[in-house]
Amino acid sequence: MLDVSYQIVRSDRRKRVSLEIDSDGRLTVHAPLFTPESEIAEIVRKERFRIAAARMRMAVKKAGAVKENGVRAEESETDSGQETAYRIVRSARRKHAQLSVDSDGKLTVNAPFSMPESKIAEFVKRERDWIKAARERAAARRKEAAAKSSESQTDSAQNVPYRIERSARRIHAALVMDSGGQLIVRVPMSMPDSKIAELVKEKQAWINAAQKRAEPYARKYQRVTAEAGSRMLYLGRLYTISRPDAETVQISGDTMIVPKFYGIADFIIWLRRQAVRVLSERVIIYENKMKVRPASVKLSDARSRWGVCSSRNNIRFVWRLVMCPLEVIDYVVVHELSHINHKNHGKKFWASVASVLPDYKRRRQWLKDNRRLMDII
Ligand SMILES: [Zn+2]
Repeated sequence: MLDVSYQIVRSDRRKRVSLEIDSDGRLTVHAPLFTPESEIAEIVRKERFRIAAARMRMAVKKAGAVKENGVRAEESETDSGQETAYRIVRSARRKHAQLSVDSDGKLTVNAPFSMPESKIAEFVKRERDWIKAARERAAARRKEAAAKSSESQTDSAQNVPYRIERSARRIHAALVMDSGGQLIVRVPMSMPDSKIAELVKEKQAWINAAQKRAEPYARKYQRVTAEAGSRMLYLGRLYTISRPDAETVQISGDTMIVPKFYGIADFIIWLRRQAVRVLSERVIIYENKMKVRPASVKLSDARSRWGVCSSRNNIRFVWRLVMCPLEVIDYVVVHELSHINHKNHGKKFWASVASVLPDYKRRRQWLKDNRRLMDII
């Protein structure tokens, strides 16, 4: 029996599944947010012999025979104390090796599944000038970022955590409470930390009041984790999530029951399904009222806007709209349907929206006030 235990690391920037085996033979599956666990399991199952072979190679390497391997040879050769340690991320679909240096200067080699380690080491050696330059660029960026905003979670006597943002252009200090209830202190570059702590202490009354105001929003804008006890906004109502043994997502009072076996990706799939259901219902209602018909209606994963209507009247709605109240969803539906006859945001366009939803400004304001919802899941 082959051991195919693995951990899944999901990212919304990832487009396809790739497998990574570290030097201890541990398997990590990098996957897009929405790839179902079952699909991942199937990929791992298909690749199990290659995984086993790669693990074997790792084990042999660990056992000693490392001298002739370019990875170590390179290390002794480094100039200016430059490190050439790297991480290999293999993918079955990749044809050529490719290097990337992250913001911390760490080097990753993206390689085809079958490329031998020795070949990878050669490749790294050949590209060492590029690597060095890329690392220098990363270091310069790090320095710049550190100068721009020195982040610190300083506690004053009252224990108010805050974030400091320094700017060369700023002349006076300013306190800002963001909608997540996080206090931000924007200060000139040269203001000492002690002075900032004093300022926060002085403004305690204002901070308390601002925090209280932000509280309901802070709860609403918690990152969606689907963990038991966490919160989830669904059709404008805030639910507490519970994770019992269940077969499907259910709503009961203020509780959203999410089956224990669901991962966050499964939960997102469920949310997307609800988005399809709710949005197609609302589109049917309003296309009949407005006597327009879009060429197609699809879901989108965009975070920049809630809906879009193309010149050919293909409409897309962001699935995250399922967090919004129905009356707000309706506004987005009417907005995009109005674009079928009016391709801009001119007077006629808004008149068309207002003819269906006279109070559209209030609904639009809700979206503006709750823009952060786009970023929490
Ligand atoms: Zn528009």
